[in-house]
Amino acid sequence: MKAEIIAVGTELLLGQVVNTNATFLSEELADLGIEVYYHTVVGDNPKRLEQLLVEADGRSELIVLCGGLGPTDDDLTKDTVAEHIHRSLVQDEQALTRLHEFFKFSKNKMTENNLRQTLMIEGGIAVQNPTGLAVGTLITENETTYLLLPGPPNELNPMFKQNARPLLEDLFPQAEQLISRVLRFYGIGESQLVTELKELIDSQTNPTIAPYAKPNEVTLRLTAKIADELTGQQLLDDLEAKVMNKVGEYFYGYGDDNSLVKVTVDELKKSGKTITAAESLTAGLFQSTLGDIPGVSEIFQGGFVTYSIGTKERFLGIDPALLEKEGTVSEACAIAMAEQARKVAEADLAVSFTGVAGPDELEGQPAGTVWIGLAQKGQPTIAVLQQFNRDRKYIRQSAVMKGLDLVRR
Ligand code: ATP
Ligand code: MG
Repeated sequence: MKAEIIAVGTELLLGQVVNTNATFLSEELADLGIEVYYHTVVGDNPKRLEQLLVEADGRSELIVLCGGLGPTDDDLTKDTVAEHIHRSLVQDEQALTRLHEFFKFSKNKMTENNLRQTLMIEGGIAVQNPTGLAVGTLITENETTYLLLPGPPNELNPMFKQNARPLLEDLFPQAEQLISRVLRFYGIGESQLVTELKELIDSQTNPTIAPYAKPNEVTLRLTAKIADELTGQQLLDDLEAKVMNKVGEYFYGYGDDNSLVKVTVDELKKSGKTITAAESLTAGLFQSTLGDIPGVSEIFQGGFVTYSIGTKERFLGIDPALLEKEGTVSEACAIAMAEQARKVAEADLAVSFTGVAGPDELEGQPAGTVWIGLAQKGQPTIAVLQQFNRDRKYIRQSAVMKGLDLVRR
């Protein structure tokens, strides 16, 4: 079952609007076991849409179009698809009744072009729009099914879920189910991960493995085509075991909505340990990142931003003579910051950050040089030296991620 999604709208091509409809529809179709092979965007131009329809007909059994069902002259999707399959547009009575009711209670005046929104393609099934006026159509012609939906996501989403989805379920009942599992990794780059897993990725057809690189982490999506949930989970378990065998040391958690900070905060909550931080180059980014997690106050009561030698002395009681001797970008400084922060904040654990965010060098050390300290109750304080590259933002974010990783381990 091959499907594709065509988003219609010049605003999408101009970069003014992000094509979130394609994301939404792809997820929904995957959930129905329908595989999406192409996403395309075309402007409000009937000729180019027609060309695209010819191409799409040849390769897809289901074509979902979104956008261009509105009342204005640039909304040409319905006319173009109707012409493409040699059908005309006809009035949908239910949509017309809704239109009249809407304007009965509205301060706005109905105009002639509003009527266009209540037209559907002759011979198709009308797809009603619970939150808007434009009616959609589901129609099959020459073994290709076309589904026409409006552009605004607040119309398209409920319309798809309530009205189009049940129709597709009926139309494509034996569609295969897909289930997937996301594994998250820190401390390994995408290219290294893919190299380690090359044989596995190349030989896998069901489930498949798809890597995705984000700043400072890589995720792997394992996707199985299945007849039932149970065999699917078994397939994913087997593949996951093989993946872990190769790169398990970098694994930190599951799921699309997970993150290193979430896993770290969960770990701290589980162990009942409180945390604080003293931040120089990250200037509060570590603590702000902790603050993104709801309920973090259970383990985080506060901390320090100490940029200058003066604030390191006044807030944390660090001897300026030590910093003048060793330098602020130093192991000694990271250790003193972590130890003092832990003491002053009365926390079980403290992380410290000192380094060169760049772009210029500092104390003769290049941008990206970062010392991260970790002080823990009843354990010797440690500091690790990291060398990050790229820009200032990336260096500071990388430092925060490494700090989280130290805490988590
Ligand atoms: P309307 O009746 O509002 O004119 P329409 O079906 O004609 O609906 P469009 O004119 O194509 O839809 O788009 C209306 C608005 O919907 C766009 O300005 C944009 O904000 C949003 N939109 C359109 N297409 C997409 C898309 N693919 N992803 C996200 N938003 C979109
Ligand atoms: Mg429009």
